[in-house]
Amino acid sequence: SNIQSDFQQQINMHILKNSSIVVTPEQCTAQEFIQKKIELLTDEVEPFFAVDLEDVCNKHIRWITSMPRVAPHYAVKCNDDTNVIKLLAHLGACFDCASKGEIKKVMDLGVSADRIIYANPCKQSSYVRYAKEVGVDTMTFDNEQELMKIKQIYPNAKLVLRLVTDDSNAVCRFSMKFGADMNTARRLLEKAQEIDMEITGVSFHCGSGQMTSKAFVDAIQNARVIMNYGQKLGFNMKLLDIGGGFPGNSGTEEYFGEIAVAVNRALDEHFPTEENVRIIAEPGRYYVASAYSLATNVIASREMVDAESGETKYMYYINDGVYGSFNCVLYDHYVPEPCFLPQNESNEKFTSSIWGPTCDGLDCIHTSIQIPKLNIEDWVLWKNMGAYTISAAVQFNGLPFGKPIYFMSKQFWDQIKEAFETPARKARNDNHFIRLNSTDCSNEIDDDELPWIPEDLSEEA
Ligand code: PLP
Repeated sequence: SNIQSDFQQQINMHILKNSSIVVTPEQCTAQEFIQKKIELLTDEVEPFFAVDLEDVCNKHIRWITSMPRVAPHYAVKCNDDTNVIKLLAHLGACFDCASKGEIKKVMDLGVSADRIIYANPCKQSSYVRYAKEVGVDTMTFDNEQELMKIKQIYPNAKLVLRLVTDDSNAVCRFSMKFGADMNTARRLLEKAQEIDMEITGVSFHCGSGQMTSKAFVDAIQNARVIMNYGQKLGFNMKLLDIGGGFPGNSGTEEYFGEIAVAVNRALDEHFPTEENVRIIAEPGRYYVASAYSLATNVIASREMVDAESGETKYMYYINDGVYGSFNCVLYDHYVPEPCFLPQNESNEKFTSSIWGPTCDGLDCIHTSIQIPKLNIEDWVLWKNMGAYTISAAVQFNGLPFGKPIYFMSKQFWDQIKEAFETPARKARNDNHFIRLNSTDCSNEIDDDELPWIPEDLSEEA
């Protein structure tokens, strides 16, 4: 069809230009996109990510409609992809940065300092000085030494006291490393009062990949108790930061919805709107997990017969592994699920193991999994690969990891642009995108400051 050839042409064009952003004439799935891209490949079979930018936008829309009181500060550590940061900045999101490098990266893209929270409770002194230099004044802390350090370097900083949470149901736990318990928190408030440091709010993090909404509800309740204490001491505490941990894989939508309902209810109970406490969160995986699908190529395989059972088993070696995009297997306790192109799908499955391309024996993605039989040069797809993947990947053994290629349909981009382009003007209209602007962190973005790439490309086209 015309659309097909149009699509093909556009992809061709972008590949020729070595461009990584494809504005598709029609909406398509990551799998369709990957299939097209693969058909056009000649001899190059490096791993690549198909990044569905519509998915990122839809996540944002879902967030601001599900939790209209909570301003999302995207946790850059989760995936520091420049295009994702740009897109989220355009949509009006704010940012959680963990270091000087992340602050610089986000600000270099045109994001203003007041849209950033420096949310790392233990910071290098020179980074605190940097934050002061560039005006990022809101930062977390959870211990007295950090309080004194910040007092010395940045006495006008607005401090956010991080509380410990019950993160026993989270995939990645932080409570052994960060957070003040209730008594410590009270002591820290007293100390801050004594040395005349401003405590502006309370934060917590229920653990990454949190699997129960109760953790959020309990933490919000604790935050209320501490905020009451701080207010009694005379602090003007007007910020509640409910952290990250919201699920982001496809298929977790219902679960996210449950958390949102529980969070909204707890906020209304403990932080009623009239009180004008600004509520923020630091979602990472929520925004990016499902948008990234990784395409890997089978570079080698081995057939073996199990000595005991006589079963024929297979070993496959693919061109991305745990030192690259699959570092989430080691660091994020992730169990990635392979998908196959229609030509490889089969009801006949074999016990197989899947290995990364380096010479290390640790570089294993699956030790035993039932999958169809694969050949060398077949492609294997991995969905939900956007969180804690490329941000921690390295080129061990000189091997590249997945390189992102972005796609978004023209029609969707036009809609998004229209809906988000001029927040201040839009704020007067009555549509649900506007709630974003009711949070006080979404400054209008100057289009010149953040030239969005699909727009540029469509002009080139
Ligand atoms: N905020 C802080 C302080 C974190 O340490 C993390 C994750 O490590 C996040 C936010 C993001 O968590 P998630 O990706 O689970 O939303």
